[in-house]
Amino acid sequence: MIPPAPAEFGLIARHFRPLAGPGALDLLDDAATLSPPPDRELVVTVDAIVEGVHFLPDDPPDLIARKLLRVNLSDLAAKGAVPLAYLLTLSARRGTSEAWLEAFAAGLRHDQECFNISLLGGDTTSTPGPLSLTVTAIGHVAPGAMVRRAGARIGDGIWVSGTVGDGALGLRAIRGELDDRDGFLAGRYRLPQPRLGLVDPAFVRAAMDVSDGLVQDLGHLCRAAGLGATVWATRVPVSVPDPHWLETCLTGGDDYELLMIVDPLREAALQARAGELGFAVTRIGTVDEEAGIRVLDAAGQRMALASGGWSHF
Ligand code: ADP
Ligand code: MG
Repeated sequence: MIPPAPAEFGLIARHFRPLAGPGALDLLDDAATLSPPPDRELVVTVDAIVEGVHFLPDDPPDLIARKLLRVNLSDLAAKGAVPLAYLLTLSARRGTSEAWLEAFAAGLRHDQECFNISLLGGDTTSTPGPLSLTVTAIGHVAPGAMVRRAGARIGDGIWVSGTVGDGALGLRAIRGELDDRDGFLAGRYRLPQPRLGLVDPAFVRAAMDVSDGLVQDLGHLCRAAGLGATVWATRVPVSVPDPHWLETCLTGGDDYELLMIVDPLREAALQARAGELGFAVTRIGTVDEEAGIRVLDAAGQRMALASGGWSHF
């Protein structure tokens, strides 16, 4: 007698096998194999997103899938890595519909093609709680060339890609707390843009993506070098230039823009690269010796911020 296969085998075969790339063995084995491209070193990162924390229960499944991949791709981008493959862990309620899984897989497929990455394997379980999704993303760099958090030096410029605070504003727009007639901000919350190809150790000394709030994440970058920073709030590029929302933009999470520490002599190379990629980079401050992050307002006065950013606990 052939024992019946668990239902998740069919789900995996129907929805995820078509996404499997080289080394995934069609998702028929217990593990995958992965060879780094010649003369490259692998870069590995993991990020989870949870219903009710990073996305809303009724968000479209294709956008949830794309956000899941993109929050991981932004970590690879911050490290100067080229995307290669990913593993997917899905913990969903029993009875999650075929239609939901199909749309979710279609979202993955879309972004796999956009960002040239393929599925290597994963795990599927049921959960009594909210939907929980984890991606482990694997990229590659030249050996020893991964851009670290540590590396800032006194006098370095602090740069950001794109606009800061859109994720936090987008969540508030979805909740009806601010006007977003064209849906731009909600779109920025639901579908972050990984800035792949920007960070290069030739001109970026240290970098990370902004996931928990600019001020808090800048604190991590500077602390890693035993230094601090001064930020000019008026230079921080925001989509809604309203003083009422400034603190939200400075401390809100979910942007996935890049925060970079750049040698002042290499600024032109960073700007040229951003120009080729078609988005803005802006210098918002300077690394200095004094520990902590000082945010100055238009009058040069230090702003008192209630917190630096998002905390899960
Ligand atoms: P096990 O019983 O050992 O946990 P699984 O049934 O979880 O094995 O996995 C069987 C195969 O399906 C493996 O190749 C695994 O990588 C793949 N797989 C399971 N879940 C997923 C998923 N969510 N995404 C991609 N591949 C998956
Ligand atoms: Mg498993």
